Amino acid sequence: MKQSHYDVSVVGAGPAGLIAAEKIASEGNSVVVFEEHQRIGEPDHCAGLLSTSGLQALELSPPKGMIQNHVLGARLFSPSGDHITIERGKREALVIHRPRFDSWLGELAKGAGATIETSVKVVDVGKDESGNRMLSLRRATESTRISSSIIVNAEGHRGILSTKLGIPTVPRKSKFPAYQFEVEDADVEDDFVEMYFGRQVAPGFFAWLIPLGNGKARIGLAAKDQPRKRLEGIMRFHKGLKDKLQNATISRGFGGVVLLGMPVSPTYAERALAVGDAAGIVKPTTGGGVIFGGVASRVAGRIVNEALKKNDYSTEMLQKYDSGWRSLLINDLRSMNFTHRILSSLADKGLNSLFRDIRDLDLISTIRKEGNMDMQGRVIGRLLTQPIALLAGLKAIRYFCSIP
Ligand SMILES: Cc1cc2nc3c(=O)[nH]c(=O)nc-3n(C[C@H](O)[C@H](O)[C@H](O)COP(=O)(O)OP(=O)(O)OC[C@H]3O[C@@H](n4cnc5c(N)ncnc54)[C@H](O)[C@@H]3O)c2cc1C
Repeated sequence: MKQSHYDVSVVGAGPAGLIAAEKIASEGNSVVVFEEHQRIGEPDHCAGLLSTSGLQALELSPPKGMIQNHVLGARLFSPSGDHITIERGKREALVIHRPRFDSWLGELAKGAGATIETSVKVVDVGKDESGNRMLSLRRATESTRISSSIIVNAEGHRGILSTKLGIPTVPRKSKFPAYQFEVEDADVEDDFVEMYFGRQVAPGFFAWLIPLGNGKARIGLAAKDQPRKRLEGIMRFHKGLKDKLQNATISRGFGGVVLLGMPVSPTYAERALAVGDAAGIVKPTTGGGVIFGGVASRVAGRIVNEALKKNDYSTEMLQKYDSGWRSLLINDLRSMNFTHRILSSLADKGLNSLFRDIRDLDLISTIRKEGNMDMQGRVIGRLLTQPIALLAGLKAIRYFCSIP
């Protein structure tokens, strides 16, 4: 017979929910994860780029079967086609198969003792008379209710349950629709990710080309609107991309929503926490959320374990989650958000000027020396203290436009 009470219910079997579940179950607490889809990790919506340092910070070493490529760094293309290359002579990032990665995280959570129930949608949340959180569940053949002492909301960007729990949600203006194709027989370099900037390419964001090895690649784009149409357009007409893709065939296409901007505040409410995309914990420069979301989920796991041990479910206790992840990430998040806002408000002429100056004034050596794919606050801080970088910034800012 299925249990009707768990110490913790986790909504959503994405990386954020599964990392929190593993941490909570590993201390012997009863945890159930509900996932509305039949299989963990599906449908896929991710480019799969994860920094090796970020994975180390999460103490995760993905098995070979889910690693599609290792990349040395990134080439960033200006609207005029100039490029700068960021690399440090070591493998900076893995390209992973996200559905396999997520289902592996599911195995780790199960191995620690968590129960995972798929094809179960959490349709409502409330409270019972003793203060426990109640969850209304919809399965294929029945609707049921269970209770738990705490809910960890890892529902992703939609924010439906956050609203019911009284946790703020990511604002609509921070959500960028994205579209991605997987292609074969592309003429791509296996060692470098490519990023394409410009208002004609992807207003407010950028397009990416991620090599998977043997001529396979993921090409995608997020923008304020029409991502698929824009992506098809650059694949046919962009002067840097069309040659690389002239013999390529599309094997599949899929969409999603990339988040930008700062996380919500606060990320907790009565007997409830929000983690991952549900809390908007992503890198504001790229929308990548697996590593930062994972870092915050580990903090969530630690605080939930403390609450269960002390039998203390007060908001003062759960507030420690909010302050805990902020102390680790907020400075970097603020710097990245500032940088993203400046970049996305430059007209193409401003971006071209900035790219030229980064190369000609050798600012790239600071980026190479101080840069970190995830914790970008340090390199941004260093650049902002270099007069020459400020000059380049001021030159570019002459071409300020409204944010798209
Ligand atoms: C096109 C694209 C490319 C990206 N590329 C990268 C990248 O290269 N690197 C990177 O780090 N990040 C990338 N991201 C972002 C990354 O995918 C997210 O940040 C990450 O998936 C967030 O994890 P999560 O666990 O918070 O949410 P999700 O992965 O979205 O998981 C949420 C889960 O909750 C389930 N769920 C929702 N509501 C309910 C409910 N009521 N009941 C039961 N289950 C429910 C959903 O089915 C889903 O499985 C990309 C995003 C997009 C759209």
